[in-house]
Amino acid sequence: MRGYLTFTFPMRRIFVAGNWKMHGSLGANAALIAEVKAGLLDFAAGVDMAVCVPAPYLAQVQALLIGSPLALGAQDVSAHAAGAYTGEVAAPMLAEFACQYVIVGHSERRAYHGETDAVVAAKALAALEAGLSPIVCVGETLAEREAGRTGEVVGRQLDAVLARLDRIALEKIIVAYEPVWAIGTGKTATPAMAQEVHAQLRARLAHKDVAAAARVQIIYGGSMKPDNAKELLAMPDIDGGLIGGAALKAADFLAIAQAAVLAD
Ligand code: PEP
Repeated sequence: MRGYLTFTFPMRRIFVAGNWKMHGSLGANAALIAEVKAGLLDFAAGVDMAVCVPAPYLAQVQALLIGSPLALGAQDVSAHAAGAYTGEVAAPMLAEFACQYVIVGHSERRAYHGETDAVVAAKALAALEAGLSPIVCVGETLAEREAGRTGEVVGRQLDAVLARLDRIALEKIIVAYEPVWAIGTGKTATPAMAQEVHAQLRARLAHKDVAAAARVQIIYGGSMKPDNAKELLAMPDIDGGLIGGAALKAADFLAIAQAAVLAD
């Protein structure tokens, strides 16, 4: 049962997405996708899975995924649909390569590219307008957590996006809670810590629309690995994972997806 809801809600679907970050090569991608596809045959797919790949590899991975239940995603998108924005990639371009998802507001983009909450919201909207589901990342730094500001920070980040959405669009977003201090560090939020924030985020979504809030997938990211995935995914408001490092090893990525099936 969802943390804050007291009425019946539709059975949740688990979503596990790999964020390859700036890793890969034509050869390594082909080998990784082949291994993941082969492994998928071993268990009943009660879980939706996607890989978010660097933009130059979208066409390659699109072709590799034909006939597979794995979906394709990108790691960033322009807030603009077209125009004089050298170096940027527009959402309609991602859609042409059969992207279903795009990560927006990853903490690495916020930290290294100065993306503000307003920019992240504009990117989420651009993705939705092109028919993609934005995976909206929110998360606090260690200093913010230690100052007791986690709820305020992730609430502000999420509200900036929610302010731009109607109820229909709300149901199409995925929220990823990614504590900055847990990304790529090997430090993971405990299941209880993550659940507390996920429940807060769902309550925030419910301010907008209670029924839609129950259906929005809120996934966790930050050093999720095969050995901690089952406990995290067993939490009522953790609907999946955004996986960085472990998504580059087929066995680990598959083991996390399998843990999701077992935890549900
Ligand atoms: C991420 O980059 O979104 C992420 C969660 O990375 P990692 O799993 O490596 O911490």
